Amino acid sequence: MDWDEFAKWGARISDWARGYHETLRDRPVRAQVAPGDILNQLPVAAPQSGDDMETVFADFEKVVMPGITHWQHPRFFAYFPANATPPSMLADYLATVIAPQCMLWQTSPAATEMETRMLQWLRGSLGLADHFEGVIQDSASTATLAAVLTMRERALGWAGNEEGLSGLDTLRIYCSNEVHTSVDRAIWISGIGQKNLRRIPTHGPLRAMQPEALEAAIKEDIAKGLKPAGIVACVGGTGTGGCDDISAVCDIAAKYDLYVHVDAAWAGAAMICPEFRHLWEGVDKADSVVFNPHKWLGMQFDCSAHFVKNPDDLVRTLAIKPEYLKTHGHDGIINYSEWSVPLGRRFRALKIWFVLRVYGVEGLQEMIRNHVAWAKDLHDLFAAEQDYEIVTAPVLSLFTFRYAPGGHSDLDGLNQRLVDAVNDDGRIYITQTRTNDQLVIRFQAGQVNATQEDVLLAFDVTREIAGTLT
Ligand code: PLP
Repeated sequence: MDWDEFAKWGARISDWARGYHETLRDRPVRAQVAPGDILNQLPVAAPQSGDDMETVFADFEKVVMPGITHWQHPRFFAYFPANATPPSMLADYLATVIAPQCMLWQTSPAATEMETRMLQWLRGSLGLADHFEGVIQDSASTATLAAVLTMRERALGWAGNEEGLSGLDTLRIYCSNEVHTSVDRAIWISGIGQKNLRRIPTHGPLRAMQPEALEAAIKEDIAKGLKPAGIVACVGGTGTGGCDDISAVCDIAAKYDLYVHVDAAWAGAAMICPEFRHLWEGVDKADSVVFNPHKWLGMQFDCSAHFVKNPDDLVRTLAIKPEYLKTHGHDGIINYSEWSVPLGRRFRALKIWFVLRVYGVEGLQEMIRNHVAWAKDLHDLFAAEQDYEIVTAPVLSLFTFRYAPGGHSDLDGLNQRLVDAVNDDGRIYITQTRTNDQLVIRFQAGQVNATQEDVLLAFDVTREIAGTLT
């Protein structure tokens, strides 16, 4: 492909993108295909000779688009959002065409220094203390893995990487049942072992770890000769938005010299609004915090902001410096690949810069405040209905409920059928979760182009479809 053709297609894809986003409401949110439908249309081997772009693009529309679940659809209410704004798309397009590999300062000074400054901008926008320094990870799972590895190394006197874990102290990590499964995977990968991830019971409407139970578990483990290493606390847990009491957790951790990592992958974005910061009060006492601008700030996937109080501990855990990666003669630079598991890194800070400059903090605050308010409006509609129960009250823009018509013997089955039927219908997209041993419907609002009308349509669609079920 020559550059004239590239420019022609770049312009055409921009026009296509506008048409796509402007017509999203006319499409079913969740892909309406069966497993294998896309695979079966793709030849089993690569073509020997090239095709023209016109044919490739026609196939993209014919083969790929029907198999897309539209994450940018204004009525996507499933999981958590992975929302994207136009300036973020443009920044990612630029990063894509420059295509730098940003592993070291030297391999992309602009990306490195932009990353430093953008993480400071995000830190300030969320009201985090200046002692945190930040790095962009590809995912919150990676940030949590890095935190657990750091907990492990710190607790083992930095011997784990070198010696392996056998023969060293048995470590213990603490969390509630509200945390994301990325915590379990970090425990497996770090070699600490699932049985050493101790679940602490929760209490209260935010399903926070009980501080007394946490401290009792730590004491009990010490008495048994085990070595507590750290705590993973959550703010805005995946299932129902559970939030630990970060201040209390950090105070207990300080007594036993434990590392605290706060996973606020989704809810962290809302801290851009000062009125929601009570949900992570005490966060400045934590050792690290992760939140995903790619979830709810329109800085599209992948963009996970990982803040650490002591970058030296992270670097000591993860950095490896073979001769071929050394850059001689530069003092005081940061090589962000030493702060993360992968070596290679994309230029992800550019989209943070574009989005913050185009919308400003106030533009993002307005978006998040709207989502929170509209989710509450929807909650109020369901709460007023006799056949519906609110199971967990809104945490920011997330709440759970269930359809519970009197006398039905299998409410779990009924609610799963309702979720499936709603998603087959396609006007909205919701998912289910389990809490209090019940299958419940989970709703969150977080789409950049959603309106109050979009959010409230979830009420009409759910009731209409529930009325067709027996
Ligand atoms: N933590 C929480 C609370 C989440 O909800 C999620 C995903 O939704 C994750 C971590 C994992 O995020 P990522 O996909 O960035 O690894």
